[in-house]
Amino acid sequence: MQHKIQAEKFGSRGAGMAHAVETCVHCGFCLPTCPTYQTLGEEMDSPRGRIFLMREVLEGNLAVEAAQPYIDKCLGCLACETSCPSGVEYGNLISPYRAHAREHGKTGPLRKAFRAILQETLPYPARFRFLLRMGAIVRPLKGLLPGVLKASFDLLPKNISSADSLPEIFPAKGPLRARVGLLAGCAQQVLAPEINRATLAVLSENGVEVVIPKSQSCCGALAMHLGEEERAKALARKNLEAFEQAGPLDAIISNAAGCGSGMAEYRDLFLGQPEEERAAKFSSNVQDVSLFLYNLGIKQPKGLPEPAKIAYHDACHLAHAQGVREAPREILKTIPNLTLLEPLEWEVCCGSAGTYNIEQPETADILGQRKAKNLAATDADAIATGNIGCLVQIRGQMEKRDTNIPIFHTMQILEKAYQTDEK
Ligand code: SF4
Ligand code: SF4
Repeated sequence: MQHKIQAEKFGSRGAGMAHAVETCVHCGFCLPTCPTYQTLGEEMDSPRGRIFLMREVLEGNLAVEAAQPYIDKCLGCLACETSCPSGVEYGNLISPYRAHAREHGKTGPLRKAFRAILQETLPYPARFRFLLRMGAIVRPLKGLLPGVLKASFDLLPKNISSADSLPEIFPAKGPLRARVGLLAGCAQQVLAPEINRATLAVLSENGVEVVIPKSQSCCGALAMHLGEEERAKALARKNLEAFEQAGPLDAIISNAAGCGSGMAEYRDLFLGQPEEERAAKFSSNVQDVSLFLYNLGIKQPKGLPEPAKIAYHDACHLAHAQGVREAPREILKTIPNLTLLEPLEWEVCCGSAGTYNIEQPETADILGQRKAKNLAATDADAIATGNIGCLVQIRGQMEKRDTNIPIFHTMQILEKAYQTDEK
């Protein structure tokens, strides 16, 4: 796409934005894989349409506010990157563009307040737990609330766990094969603390010592998604420091796809800034737990106690953003008594996408129902995935259609297969 974007006007990430625009050749191959285009049917809700809109804004031909409804509806799922034959790096455009729009556009007061609440609670486990408890108390009154707030109540968990304080070092079982750092994840610690416990057990079982630095913070992915670049940088700086202080690490492990791809973005976040080298080193060491274990080679699990059919759901931030599809499947295939099933439309987002199911509940609901239908059609006994956001979204959508298929993180299933080992 030809353009007249003056990249230098947009800071260190301007060149990446201009490059993404100019590599787009308008072919439209990405359109059928874009969940919002499939759902809403508008060119401006497609990757090609959004690239055009962002170009117009960056060139100064269009007001930020005119493009914003279409930009807001983008899930950031990056299915368009996977399907683009020209290699358009859409992520390098949408992420800094959101920061630009946040700085130069106008946001309504209700939305501003809602986003402020999200940012002041979700990244802080104690505050988030408090918010969920308050939510559970006022849930009976949800009918009186405006649409966006009402939809948030559907995502509230039935049980809210107590704080689970993780040790700073979790030892390896047997001979030491590797030493890694673990990002504990903020919302995940509250919504499903058992995922971290399962991850630690599995890593330990495989001879991996895990360091969980106490001074780590939220990965910043939520702030990036909302275009709050300075906030994202502040959080990223804390993590750079926390994991550097942990000593030599073979990898920085994430067990939530959204956090993993957020940390992989630190390199771009600090482009041309004093932290650039440290951030690049950090990002290149980030790995999803499934990929790390697959590369390490896992200890053979004995198997599940009963034969079970497991459908694997690809989280967009694992499959599209990090290109990790094979590793979790190969891990699951090593488990005796487990039959791996593939749902239709693996590439289509479930509608979770960070805070998307809170901010865009109608579209998220359509995508969630579509995902739940495809997963239910596999006739699986359970679902495996690698992202807490997908897990919460799919569980809620399954409940809506009265389909009782439980959903677990891949590490929980592997942990189960190892527990049987010990019996
Ligand atoms: S497939 Fe790639 S080049 Fe073609 S319209 Fe989409 S983003 Fe542009
Ligand atoms: S990131 Fe996802 S929703 Fe956004 S344009 Fe690309 S495919 Fe569509």
